[in-house]
This record gives sequence, C-alpha cells and structure tokens, in this order.
Amino acid sequence: MSLRVAVIGAGPAGIYASDLLIRNQELDIHVDLFEQMPAPFGLIRYGVAPDHPRIKGIVKSLHNVLDKPKLRLIGNVTVGRDITVEELREYYDAVVFSTGAVRDRDLLIPGGDKSIGAGEFVGFYDGNPRFERNWDLSAKEVAVVGVGNVALDISRVLAKTGDELLVTEIPDNVYESLKGNQAQTVHMFGRRGPAQAKFTPKELRELDESETIQVLVDPEDIDYDQLSEEVRRADKSVDLVCQVLEQYAMREPDDSPHKIYIHFFEAPVEVLTEGDAIVGIRTERQELDGEGGIRGTGKFTDWPVQQVYHAVGYRSEPVEGVPFDTERHVIPNDGGHVLTDPDGEIVPDLYTTGWIKRGPIGLIGNTKSDAKETTDMLVSDALAGRLTAPAHEDPDAILGLLQSRDIEYTTWDGWYRLDEAERAAGADCGTNARERKKIVEWEDMLAHSTHKREG
Ligand SMILES: Cc1cc2nc3c(=O)[nH]c(=O)nc-3n(C[C@H](O)[C@H](O)[C@H](O)COP(=O)(O)OP(=O)(O)OC[C@H]3O[C@@H](n4cnc5c(N)ncnc54)[C@H](O)[C@@H]3O)c2cc1C
Repeated sequence: MSLRVAVIGAGPAGIYASDLLIRNQELDIHVDLFEQMPAPFGLIRYGVAPDHPRIKGIVKSLHNVLDKPKLRLIGNVTVGRDITVEELREYYDAVVFSTGAVRDRDLLIPGGDKSIGAGEFVGFYDGNPRFERNWDLSAKEVAVVGVGNVALDISRVLAKTGDELLVTEIPDNVYESLKGNQAQTVHMFGRRGPAQAKFTPKELRELDESETIQVLVDPEDIDYDQLSEEVRRADKSVDLVCQVLEQYAMREPDDSPHKIYIHFFEAPVEVLTEGDAIVGIRTERQELDGEGGIRGTGKFTDWPVQQVYHAVGYRSEPVEGVPFDTERHVIPNDGGHVLTDPDGEIVPDLYTTGWIKRGPIGLIGNTKSDAKETTDMLVSDALAGRLTAPAHEDPDAILGLLQSRDIEYTTWDGWYRLDEAERAAGADCGTNARERKKIVEWEDMLAHSTHKREG
C-alpha cells in the first residue's frame, strides 16, 4: 500500500517525522515537506545561536534524511496562504503540521511593551530576513528578563564582542552592528530561585567561556527551601545547574570588560521610561513560600538599564484552516491527531508534531520522540483504512498547481546551491575566512534555490 503525505514545516520536528514515514516498513510512504522560508531547518537555522556550531551541525545528520528520494522539499510556500489546507487534502492522504514557533510571548508588566522580545533579537543575529536588519546596541547596561536557555543565548551574544562572533556564520550587517555594541553589563532576572531556573547545565557553563565575560551571582540569591532540595536530589540536571550557579556566586568581580549578573528572586514589575527612552527596570524581591511557590516581600529595587529584552517563551501562530488553541497557542491534539478544539473530535487525515503540538519547550532531540508518537498514529490509521484517498494521483500535480500560481518554490537541490554559495562566501572572507557566511535577503536566497534554476 502506498501513501502520499504532506508535512508542513521543515524544522527538526517535520524532518524527523518525514524520516520516520519514508522509512516505514509496512507502507510505501512518499513525503512532500513544505516550508515557508526558502531554506529548510527551522529554528536550527533561525533560532540556535551562531556561536553554537555543534548544535548547528545537527543539520549534517538532517541532510541524510533530505537526501532520500522518497522525500521532496518544497520551500518558499506558506501553507494557509499560498495553498490552503483543503487544497492539500486533494493531493495527499494525510497532512502533518510541524510549524513550530517564531513569535515571543509578551512581557505583561507596565512598560513591558517597550521591552524587546528575545525572538526579535535572535531573528536579527541569525539573519532571518523577516526581522529587523539594523540593531540599536547603544545601551551600556541591559536587562534580560528570564532564566532559560534563550535568555542565556541573548545575554551571551550581547556580552561578547563582535570580533568574537566573527568566526561564526553571522552576515556582514550583523557583524557591523555587534562591532559597535556598547553593552558592558547584562542583568538577567528570574522571579524564582536557582533550583527553579530553566537553564541546562552545559549552556550555563558556556556563558562563562568567553575571555571578555565574567558571570556573577549574588551569594544571597543562592537559597533553597525543602522542596528545592528535593528537586535537586531528584533531577541531576537541576543539581548541576545549582552547582554551576554556586560557583559563580563564590567569585569576586575581576577586570573583565563585560559582566553578566544572574539575579534570582527578583520579579520585574515595571520597565521604567522617560518619554520613549528606557531608564531602568524595577523588580520586587521574592522569597520561597515553602510550598513550591514564591511571594513578594514588598522590597523594590530600581536597576539603571537603557534596554530591556524579555525571554519569557516563544509562541506559535495559527495556520489558516487548522484548529488552534488560543490559550495554549498550540494545535489542539490528542498526542498527534488534530482535534476540532481541545475537548473536541478528531479531524480526519490531519496530524501535528513538534513545538506546535506541545508548546515551545524542549531541545531539538525532544522533537524526535514526539514525531514517533505522531507518525505511529498516522501509520496505524492508514493500515486500518481510516485515511481519505486524495483526488489527484500524479505526484507532480501539486508542482503544477504551484507553478500555475507563479509560486517560486525552492527545492532540495536548490538548498545545495544555496549552501555552496554560503560556504563560498565564508571562504571568501580573507583573514576572517570561516565555514559559512549566511545569505540573508529573501531574493538572494531564492536566486540560488528556486526550482526555476532547474529548468
Ligand atoms: C532562540 C532559540 C535557541 C535554541 N537553541 C537550541 C539549542 O542550542 N539546542 C537545542 O537542542 N535546541 C535549541 N532550541 C530549541 C529548538 O530550536 C526546538 O526544539 C526545535 O526547533 C523545535 O522544532 P520544530 O520543528 O517544532 O519547530 P521549528 O524549528 O520552529 O520549525 C518549524 C518550521 O515550520 C515552518 N512554518 C511555520 N509555519 C509555516 C507555514 N504556514 N507553512 C510552511 N512552513 C511553515 C517554519 O518556517 C519553520 O521552518 C532553541 C530554540 C530557540 C527559540
């Protein structure tokens, strides 16, 4: 029995799901992987920080999946806009949504609208053409609200020098902005304590690896109640994070030009402004309540900062024509089947996986097990005859439809050409030669990767 499946979103979740489908032994499954950007890889390309080459290197193993003939990449196509979900159902037995998350959650405090979402800054430094191309880095003192890995990424990028990042894939405009970065002090703020921080140990240690950065924690912020101690004993990763933070708390400030202070038990309550300018952030001291929560102490501190970023979580966007849970910002599902609403019925032939399925939490590796759950459901539905056969049998009919709409879709061969061009641009940087320099502009990416180059 053979099957045609459309997977929407070529981030890690979509690629892992495609891999499992095309390798299925019971069914002969062909997958078309749709992606709105001209290039694949989702947040690996447009989220993971440029100074994390090991993580960016996961792309190499994803290449092996996309190299397989049963998988076809169709990029530069936004599902819900360029083609509707109803139309897709005429070409495929099933559709899997793995559209991830790109937007920031808001910082809901007075003045919070003046704070910049981490995702905006990440979009800038990772060269996402949908985001701002020039960045104001004139602030000497900066606040970062949040104590998770994204907060670590942006604090580290803010505290490093432009030259330290020049060995990475950053494009020229990003380097030019970072070279002029004035930031000397970055204050990270978490409402709760060290045992409640969302860091992973490796990423927390990395924060301190730059010669120009010293990371400091106030010893008074190292506090655990009984529940925190229990969490430490039960979770090795939490314990390691606490150990690293304790080491940071034992230090005296040195003469490193850039300092990152990680503050715990300080809940931001207001971004302070004068006219349009940010002049500070006010926090309220918190204490553990012994029951796993915190309570305010009524002691407020104003920290002089001229820029505030918030890394309080990413948020998914709905896809036109697909149910969306506006509270949790996910596609309502029961482990993979799309539901009409969170308590609703299964929508036949539609599935979901990755961050759009379970919310924006977890590392790239977590999307693998998630994809397995979803694709197992799809396969068992197919074997039980529960999928609706598509109207069109010719696998190229979909390409004909896109061409009839003048959509310049990109291909996997096109990615190889773009990849080669980015590598050539990196090699061409004279004394600053590096593995890759990213091509940013949409049209420039298309110039290499569109199907039209294939005649
Ligand atoms: C700033 C940041 C840094 C991170 N750093 C790390 C790290 O160092 N290590 C690590 O393991 N994890 C890291 N992560 C987590 C990791 O990126 C996620 O776990 C993973 O990317 C989630 O995969 P996904 O495929 O669900 O979503 P995504 O990676 O977001 O992929 C979704 C894809 O769907 C596409 N899409 C969306 N809507 C449509 C549509 N309508 N039509 C067509 N295509 C569409 C998007 O363009 C995107 O390519 C980081 C996350 C962020 C936000």
